[in-house]
Amino acid sequence: MTAPLFPRLTIVGCGLIGSSIARVVREKGVAGEIVIADISEAHRDRITALNLGDRVTGDIGEGVEGADLVIFAVPVLAMGAAMALAAGHLKPGAIITDVGSVKGTVADALMAHAPDDVFVIPGHPIAGTEHSGPDAGFAELFDGRWTILTPLDREDDAYAAAVTKLAEFWQALGAQVEIMDRAHHDLVLAVTSHIPHLIAYNIVGTAADLEGVTEGEVMKYSAGGFRDFTRIAASDPTMWRDIFVANKEAVLEVLGRFTEDLQALQRAIRWGEADKLHDLFTRTRAIRRGVIDLGQESAEPNFGRDRGKH
Ligand code: NAP
Repeated sequence: MTAPLFPRLTIVGCGLIGSSIARVVREKGVAGEIVIADISEAHRDRITALNLGDRVTGDIGEGVEGADLVIFAVPVLAMGAAMALAAGHLKPGAIITDVGSVKGTVADALMAHAPDDVFVIPGHPIAGTEHSGPDAGFAELFDGRWTILTPLDREDDAYAAAVTKLAEFWQALGAQVEIMDRAHHDLVLAVTSHIPHLIAYNIVGTAADLEGVTEGEVMKYSAGGFRDFTRIAASDPTMWRDIFVANKEAVLEVLGRFTEDLQALQRAIRWGEADKLHDLFTRTRAIRRGVIDLGQESAEPNFGRDRGKH
């Protein structure tokens, strides 16, 4: 085991993502000490029972004191309030990051409360499942997945060194790291994650509404496609409410384009344009192969769990 990258790490919010970080950091010795701050008493009891940290507290200010790295892993719309509670207690020179699924509004919320003498580097691991809470995490979650860092517009060497160190941290957890502009991140994730979830929520809602008409057959005979949608639509309601509120502009932009394409498909079906349908389905099949070739999905479920991107 090599020397820890950070003497003390504090994780604020220890659900699926926070507890996965705690597990792999401990397993690989990436931090000397792990402190966990979570407002949920029930979660704190589980975190203690699972022995995820060296110290567990419900007081965010106390929890971040003396930490060299602080990771906010709370729902997107809770980031600002959590940072406000931490702000007066942060160690000068500490690296402050987050794992929120939206970057523009989260960076603004963090920066609104951050003192000048810390290094704020927003981030997002593109790894997750539809489960939540401290029991749902697992140490292999980030293995081979991407973590996107969206540094602030700061030119100084000390900030660049902090970005390099945070990238090393994620690499030590098994992730690959990419640096990206915040607005670009939010647009890319709207396409690859947010709109697909919206479609899943919508189709499952539509099917549930049709249950009265189909007398239970939708659920009873649900084929593979619908079953996959129900898994995605089982994702945490708070997390996804926050994502759509926080990434409104990019989501609406992509949704406009999606709606146009859907209408084109509707037209092709109405006019019996079979070749058009076949061409699209051939193109999308090749895209699926590309995703597998890039190692972002395997034919077999990983570790018995789906690690879908969020
Ligand atoms: P989660 O399992 O629900 O965990 C969030 C934890 O934070 C819970 O223990 C929650 O307690 C606690 N919490 C909520 N507000 C808090 C606050 N103000 N201060 C301290 N603790 C607070 O959620 P998650 O799936 O790990 O997601 C956490 C973050 O990661 C979100 O920003 C999400 O966008 C991002 N993310 C999620 C995924 C994914 O697949 N799930 C993937 C990548 C990134 P309560 O339950 O009592 O509220």
